[in-house]
Parts: sequence; structure tokens; C-alpha cells
Amino acid sequence: MNAPLPPSANQPGPPLWLLAEVTYRCPLHCAFCYNPVDFARHETELSTADWLRVLREARAAGSVQCGFSGGEPLMRDDLETLVAEAHRLGFYTNLLTSGVGLTASRAQALQAAGLDHIQLSFQDSTRELNDFLSHTRTFDLKQRVAGLIKDNGWPMVMNCVIHRLNIDYIDRIIEMAVELGAEYLELANSQYYSWALLNRDQLMPSRAQLERAERITNAYRERLGDRIRIFFVVPDYYETRPKKCMNGWGQVFLTVTPDGTALPCHTARMLPGLDFPNVREMDVRSIWYGSEGFNRYRGDAWMKDPCRACPDKDKDHGGCRCQAWMLAGDPAAADPVCDRSPEHDRVRAAVEQACSPAWKGGAKPLVFRDPRRSRELGAKAADA
Ligand code: SF4
Ligand code: SF4
Repeated sequence: MNAPLPPSANQPGPPLWLLAEVTYRCPLHCAFCYNPVDFARHETELSTADWLRVLREARAAGSVQCGFSGGEPLMRDDLETLVAEAHRLGFYTNLLTSGVGLTASRAQALQAAGLDHIQLSFQDSTRELNDFLSHTRTFDLKQRVAGLIKDNGWPMVMNCVIHRLNIDYIDRIIEMAVELGAEYLELANSQYYSWALLNRDQLMPSRAQLERAERITNAYRERLGDRIRIFFVVPDYYETRPKKCMNGWGQVFLTVTPDGTALPCHTARMLPGLDFPNVREMDVRSIWYGSEGFNRYRGDAWMKDPCRACPDKDKDHGGCRCQAWMLAGDPAAADPVCDRSPEHDRVRAAVEQACSPAWKGGAKPLVFRDPRRSRELGAKAADA
């Protein structure tokens, strides 16, 4: 393995975390799916040989952790081959799955390939809501898959996206995670990107719901101690300072999408005026250190006011570029979650709407992710 280039004042460290989005195919139809709304316009997938090369190049560039994600990564029948190579190269490997496709024989094959860790997603603790939110009958299957994960000796992270429709059942979600033997539970409040942004009015909880859920989570943390570690991720919209998105643009995370586009975060393809490289045409090290797409928002030279003169700019790097684009129409603007942003009123208005006694989100139908809808929405966006 080549030694990673040493970091310098103008050069980031290596891409420690590789997210291999091996496919956008997925049998589920989550209304909060984080895949791009126009995912169906990017249907081509890297071949097995391409992915094996990407793994080798990323490891040589200093990556140490590899997450296999999608879509549903188990839709690829070469997943075991990719995991085995990542393991051989010395990656810590993680599979992010809905559980669909994880049969006993595939679990054994993944175990033999050296998979270190599995994150299993649930939509809720009840069959009705789980199956409604994913638009599939998958609740019973997920319970079986949780058993398989335990039987194979993997540590289990259970992930549940939290939003207005399930947040009031947070106690039952925690109970279910304990019953299934999860070591970690990620209660990931929905962030409003991609499909979740389309459904924001329906999905955003009120402040009262959020505070109650956090109180209940803290009580469980105290009661359960070391038995399970519970993470509760607050939605950005209820903060007054943005998150240090991806730990800084092009600092740690490298996402490779199914068609080989390399991105500093899995939603960055939406940003205008940026030409992101493809692993078919450029090697990972050149992409990371040399491409325009990865360098555009590194450092702080690109910042405008109020971020440029802000004493906190090293803490959050101005927040999320995608959120700045989606809410302020300018990817170089301050993230509107920040109450110093001139566009913060847009965030406040969404929160006020969610907290209003006259909340009307329930009257709007949810838009479920599916390829046909994705093509329609993608064509509409291209025409606009
Ligand atoms: S969020 Fe749901 S629909 Fe989207 S990739 Fe994950 S399981 Fe599939
Ligand atoms: S003004 Fe910009 S740098 Fe300052 S806290 Fe807000 S987002 Fe962060």
C-alpha cells in the first residue's frame, strides 16, 4: 500500500471513511429516503472489477473504514466478493441494510468474507407503521434478520429514522431494540434532504414532541446503563447553529455513488456549478486531493458574510452546503439553520408550521420513493 500523502496546511488528511453506495435499487419505498430524488436517472452501476479497484485505491489513499450502503446493498450479488476484498485490504467493514435479502446463507457468506458490523434499519416498532412507512411488508422479515445478526455474532446497530409519525412511540422503539439484543440504537431524527424534504410538512415533529422524546430517551439511558448505547440525533431545524457537516467538506468522507461519481457527501450531487469526478476516469487519490469538486468548499476562502467574518467559522465551516443551496438558493451561503443567516426565517417558518395547533401536514399525502416517481421528479427538475 502506498503511504498516504502527508497533510499540509492546504491539504486535507486522507479520506478515512469510504461510503460505497453500491446500488440505488431498493425494494422499500421510504418516504424519508436519503437517496437523491432523481436516483432513477443514474441507473448504471459500477462493475465488480470497478468496485474492487476503488477499494484498493481508497485503501492506498488512507481509507480505513468502508460502509456498504445503497439503496439496498444486498441487491448486488457480488456483495460478498466486495466485502472479502475490503476485509483483505484491512478495512473495518460495515453493512447498512434494510434486511431485505439477508438470508441465512448470505449471512454466513458475509461472515466468512469478514464483515465486521451490520446496521439494520427499522421504520417503527409496530408492523402497521413499519410497513406503511416503507410501503412494503417487511416488519416480520426485519425481526428475523435481527435474529440472524445475533446468531452470527455481529454487534448490531439498529437504526430508526424518527419523525412526526413515529416519534410518540419512541419508548416502544427502544423496548424493541432491547428485546432484539441491539448493542446500539440510533434514533436518527429525519433531516430534511431528498425525499424527506418533499415530505417535510408531514414529517417534521413539533418541539413538544421532540422534547418529550428526548426526555424519554434520557430516562431509558439511565435505566439501561451499558446494556445498550442510544444515540438521539436532533433535527437541524431545531438548532440555532448548524452542524459541522461531514466534519468539513472533503476532510474525512468520500462517497462513491452506484455509477461511480465521487462526492464529499451523499447528497452533494444536487449542487449546481460543480463537476464531480468519476472513479472510472480518475483514481481515488487524484479525486481526493486534486479534483475541483472536492476542493471547492475546503478551507474558508469560498465563504461569504456572515460566515467570512464569523468567530465560529472553524467550529462548523458554515454548515451544510446542500442545505444552503436548498433553502437559500446559494451553495456558498451560510447554512440557514444558523440564526445569523439572513435566510434563517425559512427554517423558523417550517418549525412554526410544525408547532402550530393548526398543523395541516396530515392532510397532505406522503410521497413514497419509487423509480417511476423519481423519473418524473427528475424530469421536472431538469425542465425547471
Ligand atoms: S431509506 Fe428506505 S427506500 Fe431508501 S434506500 Fe434505505 S431502505 Fe431503501
Ligand atoms: S455565521 Fe456561518 S460560520 Fe458563523 S455560526 Fe453561522 S453558519 Fe457558522
